[in-house]
Amino acid sequence: MGKMKALVWQGPYKMKLTEVEKPKPRAGELLIKTKSVGVCGSDLEIYKGGFAHSVPPLILGHEACGVVEEVTEGVENIQVGERVAVDPGIFCGKCEFCRKGSYWQCDHRDILGMQKHNGAYAEYFVMPHLSCYSIPADMDWDEAALIDILADPLHAMNMMPLQIGETVAVFGPGPGGICFVQLAKTAGAAMVILIGTREERLALGRKLGADITININKKDVIDEIMRITHQRGVDVGIEASGSTQALPNTLSVTRKQGRVMVFGIYSENASLDMQDMHRRELTIFGSSGCPWSMPTAINLIANKKIEVKPMITHRVNLEGLEALFNDGIIEHRKEGYFKGVLLI
Ligand SMILES: [Zn+2]
Ligand SMILES: [Zn+2]
Repeated sequence: MGKMKALVWQGPYKMKLTEVEKPKPRAGELLIKTKSVGVCGSDLEIYKGGFAHSVPPLILGHEACGVVEEVTEGVENIQVGERVAVDPGIFCGKCEFCRKGSYWQCDHRDILGMQKHNGAYAEYFVMPHLSCYSIPADMDWDEAALIDILADPLHAMNMMPLQIGETVAVFGPGPGGICFVQLAKTAGAAMVILIGTREERLALGRKLGADITININKKDVIDEIMRITHQRGVDVGIEASGSTQALPNTLSVTRKQGRVMVFGIYSENASLDMQDMHRRELTIFGSSGCPWSMPTAINLIANKKIEVKPMITHRVNLEGLEALFNDGIIEHRKEGYFKGVLLI
């Protein structure tokens, strides 16, 4: 069996680097030697104890990449030594939603490093081979760790396909929001407006394609977007901040018969003007996960259509990652923290 180093979440605000048993892959699974893992905003929520379905002790880390160390019975398309990135969703393949092709809505869905299945903040992790995707030989590991944060917005964009020349407002310049900006521009948006509170993130959004940025601490976002769009509103409003206040604003700045994407992670409910949603015939989408969008996300990054590296502010090893959590660097965004990547 052997041992490995792993960062184990032991309960609220307790992350500990320790030795654990190396995991053993079952049939259909791969043993993967971890090379890089993105640090996600949801990891911070779990760390704080905010997710009911995350129960300690648990190894977190779902934006994972590595080299296949061992294959098992039933694995055909992936070989030992292959470089892979994973879709963190784990599904049963048998329930109604799996069988009709919506496997990311599996009745028994588990998520790498978030629920039962231990994640990749460790030297090794195991993953069903169907959730693993090959990555190009010349893609850097830090870049590969951000494939997942592009794949989720990509799935969301595909749900409400953007027409060439449409206008888009993106609330929340986090990693997801920055990906939405770039995807909307790549898809042919005439104008993308990025809304947030932190100037350096808005500046990064402008650098990566946002036509206009609005700091909600300085301007009334509804007045400003209605002014810019000549009182029409944008075609597509994307809520990627997770702020309950941002969702009513997203609805307000979206035009009649427009589309609204609910993408953030919310810890409480928002109060919405339902009469307005009804009267102006808004369509609301929810999006979760990255079904079949991993290969496209890999292509977009490999072909330099979407830039993810500029978001990375912290590259750390396992010891450094323990400190990122326990020293409050992620929670309080110390040292200009934006996106961390574990590199092993
Ligand atoms: Zn994530
Ligand atoms: Zn299922």
